[in-house]
Amino acid sequence: MMSSGMTTGSPRRISILGSTGSIGKSTIDLIERDPEAYKVVALTANGNAEALAAQAKALKADLAVVADPLALGRLKEALAGSGIEAAAGPEAVVEAAARDADWVMAAIVGAAGLEPTLAAVARGATVALANKECLVCAGDLFMAEVKRHGATLLPVDSEHNAIFQVFDFERKNRIDKIILTASGGPFRDWTREQMAVATPEQAVAHPNWSMGAKISVDSASMFNKGLEFIEAHHIFGMSADRIEILVHPQSVIHSMVAYVDGSVLAQLGSPDMRTPIAFSLAWPDRMAAPVPRLDFAALARLDFRAPDPVRFPAIRVVREALERGGVAPTAMNAANEVAVDCFLNRTIGFLDIPMVVEETIEEIMSGPLGSQSVDRLEAVRAVDAEARGVAARHASRRTFAAA
Ligand code: NAD
Ligand code: MG
Repeated sequence: MMSSGMTTGSPRRISILGSTGSIGKSTIDLIERDPEAYKVVALTANGNAEALAAQAKALKADLAVVADPLALGRLKEALAGSGIEAAAGPEAVVEAAARDADWVMAAIVGAAGLEPTLAAVARGATVALANKECLVCAGDLFMAEVKRHGATLLPVDSEHNAIFQVFDFERKNRIDKIILTASGGPFRDWTREQMAVATPEQAVAHPNWSMGAKISVDSASMFNKGLEFIEAHHIFGMSADRIEILVHPQSVIHSMVAYVDGSVLAQLGSPDMRTPIAFSLAWPDRMAAPVPRLDFAALARLDFRAPDPVRFPAIRVVREALERGGVAPTAMNAANEVAVDCFLNRTIGFLDIPMVVEETIEEIMSGPLGSQSVDRLEAVRAVDAEARGVAARHASRRTFAAA
């Protein structure tokens, strides 16, 4: 049995939003090792009704929800006779998040995760946040809601989880800067010419981490580190000039916090998301996690270098969007989601991704929505939808040109 510290007393009520994804499955891998400790309230997925039903049955969940209404028939069929409630549609996902779980894993990919995650926040739940896009598209609104409802936000993204572990919240004024480490992704040492003809298969083949398709492409473009830059800005309340990005190919140091006395505190570990997930599940306690242990003698060395702004324009694009503020990060996130989808569907090239994003930000910022504030959900939705349309139009003028 795991020493989760949760095995005594009544089981912890938990829900997993995005349970069929990479983070969702890693979360289930941990809770399945100590099933008595948890009562699974709700599991949600997009369209994979069969996988969701299998998880719901294995974990004896109360409720299983698919976001895609067309998948409801298959979900009901797969759950027949189990007594597990089934529902479908984006509103049903939000309702699932609003059920009374104490701990909610927010692991839906993209801005689609915003409203469900906010529903968990609104109950004052402990929210383990993997879905970084919700902080990119609506960071101020999201953090204000966390504060207003007294929710507990535990960052799952490995960098932010690392920072959370070594960030002295009581003495924040003694922190100089935070240093986000980046593996550099599969194209770390590629030329622009090579990247111009990269295929989706090459982009999702991450050297260190196994992840969903969208974040894998984001890692290849380094948009992921840009999104994480904005995520760190909101979670830790650090201004952009006090967040640094450092390429560290081995992914052993997951991020660092530098203090005014010259001390730098880091969190290290194997590149396995079950460590930050276990941290968020057991917090403020610790639980055993079945991850490979670091072998420092075998590692022998850790390398670092500054990110290359020429080969990876995404970092500049994101920094500029954060500086412009207002609707720019919302538009940027939506455009990136559309561009990544187009690249995965082979309708644009890899290097078109940052171009489509920049063109979309420009068009939105100079249009009627450009001066809007995004402090309300309706405004976020409007900008997100408009930017998706603009990005699709810019993408349609481009073509896939892989080798
Ligand atoms: P994934 O693609 O493997 O899984 C995404 C999950 O969301 C699936 O369950 C899918 O069914 C569901 N989903 C997709 N679209 C949806 C929609 N429109 N409505 C409702 N549900 C939908 O992604 P992942 O790699 O698990 O990543 C999930 C989130 O966690 C992302 O925001 C990602 O950036 C973040 N994250 C992931 C990792 C990782 O190692 N995978 C690390 C850090 C952060
Ligand atoms: Mg990360």
